[in-house]
Amino acid sequence: MSKVSCEIIKDMLPLYYDDVCSDDSKRMVEEHLVECHSCKLELDRLKANFKLPKEEIEIIRNDRNVIKNISSSWNRSRVKSFMKGIIISALLFSLIILGYVGLFHWNITNVATDVVEIKNVSELADGKMVYYAEINDGYSLNTLKFDMDKEGNFYITPLRPIIKQEAQSLPLLEKGYEFIDIKEQEVVRGKEIKAIYYGTPRDKILIWEKGMYLPKASEEIENMFHFE
Ligand SMILES: [Zn+2]
Repeated sequence: MSKVSCEIIKDMLPLYYDDVCSDDSKRMVEEHLVECHSCKLELDRLKANFKLPKEEIEIIRNDRNVIKNISSSWNRSRVKSFMKGIIISALLFSLIILGYVGLFHWNITNVATDVVEIKNVSELADGKMVYYAEINDGYSLNTLKFDMDKEGNFYITPLRPIIKQEAQSLPLLEKGYEFIDIKEQEVVRGKEIKAIYYGTPRDKILIWEKGMYLPKASEEIENMFHFE
C-alpha cells in the first residue's frame, strides 16, 4: 500500500474532522493517523481550535431554545392574563351595575314602623277594606309586599332600596289610601285571614283583625275608589 503523503492527509483533515469526506477517504485518513504522529497532532490542533466554537454553538442553540420557550410561554401567559383582565373587567362592570341597581332599585329594606302612620281604617261599599298609610320620614316608598303566614296573619310590608330617595312632590305609595280585598285574598291564598298588619312580623302595626268593627268609609274616601 503506497503511503499517502502527510500533505494530502493534512489537506483532508478538516473534511475528516467535519465528517464530510467519503468512507474511503475516512478510512485512508484513519489508517494514516495510526502510523503518523505528526498528522495526529494536526488533528488534535484542529479539534482544539474548533472545540470552543462547537460548544458555543451548542450553548447558543440552547439559549435560543430557552428564549423561544420563554417568549412562547410569555406569549401564552400574556394572552391568559389579557383574557383574565377582560373577564375581571366584565365581572367588575357587572358588579358595579348590580351594585348600582341593588343599592338604588332593589327594594329589600323594609321601612321601620315608627315612621309609619295608619289611620281611617274603614270599609268600602263593595266590602273592601281601606286604610290611610303615611310614611313620614321624607323618603319615597317603592313598593308594598304582601305575605301571609300559616296562622293567617297578613303582612303588608313597605319596601325601599338600601339607598332611599327623597319623596317626590306627588307621593305615590308613601302617602295615601290603599285598599285590600280581604275576601279575594282569602280565596287566592286558600286560607282565612285573621289579622292584617302593616310592616313585618317583627315590626308591625295592626290594621285590622278578625272581629274588629270596620266603620263605613266616608263619601270622600268612597269617591277615591270609584273611577267612572
Ligand atoms: Zn502524516
